[in-house]
Amino acid sequence: MSTLLELSGVSVSFDGFKAINNLSFQIGEPEMRAIIGPNGAGKTTFMDIVTGKTKPDEGTVLWGEKSISLVGMNESSISRAGIGRKFQKPTVFEAQTVRENLAMALRNPRGPLDVLFYRKNADGTRRIMDVAEQIGLTDELQRPAGELSHGQKQWLEIGMLLAQEPRLLLVDEPAAGMTPAEREKTTEILTDAAKTRAVVVVEHDMEFVRRLNCKVTVLNEGSVLAEGNLDHVTKNPDVIDVYLGR
Ligand code: ADP
Ligand code: MG
Repeated sequence: MSTLLELSGVSVSFDGFKAINNLSFQIGEPEMRAIIGPNGAGKTTFMDIVTGKTKPDEGTVLWGEKSISLVGMNESSISRAGIGRKFQKPTVFEAQTVRENLAMALRNPRGPLDVLFYRKNADGTRRIMDVAEQIGLTDELQRPAGELSHGQKQWLEIGMLLAQEPRLLLVDEPAAGMTPAEREKTTEILTDAAKTRAVVVVEHDMEFVRRLNCKVTVLNEGSVLAEGNLDHVTKNPDVIDVYLGR
């Protein structure tokens, strides 16, 4: 596993309040990583920084084998560099079918190589089938996305991101509002995706995090409080104090 993303000494303040405070950690490739921590710990802000939505006041964010600096790159360049982000609220096109949604994602390639790849595959049918299979929506391809359950919409959105073959997929609270069965399927989709790329998941549901069965980074007040497997970090007295004990 080689390092894909490296944050060093990253800080950002909003009106004098340090939301991210000297944050340093790395994500490998491939890797599944869970990020947990209390509300306001800076989890979403971390994703904002990596995706170029928020510019850090200090520190470096380096990407890939060439250690490209993401700081100062705009959001679309960062997305083209291979970073996909899923927000909490699904943003699928409700009137379009599942197939059309996936086709749109494929038609929006993130890099020049993908354009070549896409042309060779004429209508992209094969890729659509592959992604539909990955997200468990093969039987729903002809249905308008608006008819899908909340969980299925979330999977479709993950599929639309996977269609663009990101090297890093950032997912903020995917299990929120899902049934237990949907949560389990979501774990499967993300675990599968993490076999060939980096997937970073922010999640509050500890059962969900346990099933991800991966390294966990605990954030608190904008920095890393603890890191390791879930059993290791949940035994940490500081973690119990600021997060689990409440
Ligand atoms: P988390 O996702 O861990 O709950 P956030 O990253 O959303 O935490 O927020 C960290 C802190 O930064 C919070 O105190 C939040 O209010 C503040 N914050 C985040 N984004 C902004 C912003 N754009 N403007 C002002 N304050 C912000
Ligand atoms: Mg958040």
